[in-house]
Amino acid sequence: MTRVESKDNSVRLSQRLRSGGFRFTRQRQHVYEVLLRKRDHPTAEEVFIRAKGGMPDISMATVYNCLDALVRSGLARQVTVDRGATRFCPNMREHCHFHCSVCNRVFDIGLSGGAPAGIGLPRGFKAARFEIAIHGTCAGCSKNGHRTDSAGRGDLQAVQSRAAARPCRQPNRKRFPFKALPKNGAH
Ligand SMILES: [Zn+2]
Ligand SMILES: [Zn+2]
Repeated sequence: MTRVESKDNSVRLSQRLRSGGFRFTRQRQHVYEVLLRKRDHPTAEEVFIRAKGGMPDISMATVYNCLDALVRSGLARQVTVDRGATRFCPNMREHCHFHCSVCNRVFDIGLSGGAPAGIGLPRGFKAARFEIAIHGTCAGCSKNGHRTDSAGRGDLQAVQSRAAARPCRQPNRKRFPFKALPKNGAH
């Protein structure tokens, strides 16, 4: 990132935080830069580890606070694609997520032009945004001979059946003090 880009980013960040009702702080800027630097959808804990690299005295509570401010200011979004901890994504363009069940990585998949083909909403329903997770095998893992399992068909039915199979209580799920986002805009 050049100096000019970094300056532009901090002005933009400051404006967005203010419009969300938050103050600009060094910590919030640092956590935002951590998210922008490596867009691999890190968990809060991973953000914390990375943030400590450039700011050794930052605490986990501060990182949670910063992530909360970024999400509420529309600078990042929470992503839940599997039963693991919530992840964070600074890409605010309309997109969905592809979760590779082999390497556990999450990829952004662009959604140009709104609803993906094949999603037939009931009459009268209007989608505002999409929270779609596709599960399967990424290109790298496919090349290494891993086959896509039945949950990786990548169609909505697969997503829905996974959602239906998900237990109400998720004991392995890390506690996160954010309200869970609705699964998709139709609900
Ligand atoms: Zn993979
Ligand atoms: Zn994303």
